[in-house]
Amino acid sequence: MSAERPILIVGGGLGGLTAALAVARHGQAVRVLEGAPSFGAIGYGIQFGPNVFHVLDRIGVGDAVLEKADSPPAVLMIDALNGKEVTRVPTGASFRARFKYPYIIIHRIDLHNVLLDACRRNPLVTLVADAMVSGFTDHGDQVTVATEDGRSFEGALLIGADGTRSRTREQLLADGGPLANGFVAFRTIVPMGDVTAQVQRDIVALWGFHIVHYPLRHGTLFNIVAVFRRSARSERGDVAAYRAELEEAYRDAHPTMKALLAMLDLGRRQAVGDRDPVRHWHKGRVVLLGDAAHPTLQSLAQGACMAIEDGLCLADCIAAANGDHEAAFRRYENARVVRTARVTLESRYIWDVYHSDGINREVYWQILAERTEADTFQCLAWLYDGFALSTEATR
Ligand SMILES: Cc1cc2nc3c(=O)[nH]c(=O)nc-3n(C[C@H](O)[C@H](O)[C@H](O)COP(=O)(O)OP(=O)(O)OC[C@H]3O[C@@H](n4cnc5c(N)ncnc54)[C@H](O)[C@@H]3O)c2cc1C
Repeated sequence: MSAERPILIVGGGLGGLTAALAVARHGQAVRVLEGAPSFGAIGYGIQFGPNVFHVLDRIGVGDAVLEKADSPPAVLMIDALNGKEVTRVPTGASFRARFKYPYIIIHRIDLHNVLLDACRRNPLVTLVADAMVSGFTDHGDQVTVATEDGRSFEGALLIGADGTRSRTREQLLADGGPLANGFVAFRTIVPMGDVTAQVQRDIVALWGFHIVHYPLRHGTLFNIVAVFRRSARSERGDVAAYRAELEEAYRDAHPTMKALLAMLDLGRRQAVGDRDPVRHWHKGRVVLLGDAAHPTLQSLAQGACMAIEDGLCLADCIAAANGDHEAAFRRYENARVVRTARVTLESRYIWDVYHSDGINREVYWQILAERTEADTFQCLAWLYDGFALSTEATR
């Protein structure tokens, strides 16, 4: 592999940019093709578990991310009907002592800019915006991708980091689209001064049913995500119908939740979904990572964390395999499939907990209330301790 024949990455999201930096660390040239007119992120918040810092430190951006982030004192789960705390994950000093790194909340734009700046400073990384990839050809000894506007790019390998509706996956695996779970999400950011709801503002709050909120940019902004089961009535973009659906879905909710809903921007809603886990994410010279490989529900707040872990793991596997890309991709899958599948499956379980009612809700709440801090940390250890790359390139 060489600068003439770089590794190609389709998609300049968090997974694609991490992979670019991680590949370049090994002295290999890489070209990132992004379909949007410019590289960037949608303007909402994101939560990161401490596991992601094992990667961010390795690619040299951990401190820059921390500078832009906040670390909440706790993640609280709150009952949607009575407004009482169900359980809390303390994310202050004891969490930091146990997991080495903090739990953070950060504006996606700030995070993206840290990664983009690092890419722009690295002469081995080429960023190509406005390059919507329409397909690829694997020639056996190299791979070519074509863009919608008629350009083509050659590379040694192709990494499909093109998100939930990945065209790379469609061509590679032809296994259909993601599974919609019937829910939709609205996301909103407002200045902290405009927050009218009587809520604790410095924490991450997860209301059952569900609404998530937390502060951003050192307490100057307030991020809200509201999720509810879609009814068949609303046409896309019909804000009045969205409002009516929301009011119906949350009719029994606590008044504080209703005050949060009143602050939502209903201009755009996003369908929620995931995929059943699959064992193989590669064929020939083409491989997938992040949401293209294993999209998950957002209930564990780990989709982007997994994309970022994938990026480093894949780059390390490619570098260690001395040109044997088959061995590299097998080793990458072996290291990542079970961990990412567990995120997908546990996220579905937590989703059901958030949306439970009646006696199920009471059972879940009792289980959660019985947990000590030590129990909670133990439950999260498999995830937040990060992942170890297997030393064997097994099948
Ligand atoms: C409401 C919500 C809340 C979430 N909260 C969290 C959270 O708190 N923590 C967390 O870790 N995760 C969270 N996630 C999940 C997270 O956003 C995703 O898992 C993550 O963005 C996946 O990164 P990616 O790089 O794989 O894909 P993406 O971020 O989707 O990036 C894909 C990129 O590829 C580009 N692209 C697509 N097709 C093409 C093409 N044909 N040619 C060229 N470029 C293309 C896109 O423009 C995009 O830039 C949340 C998701 C949702 C919906």
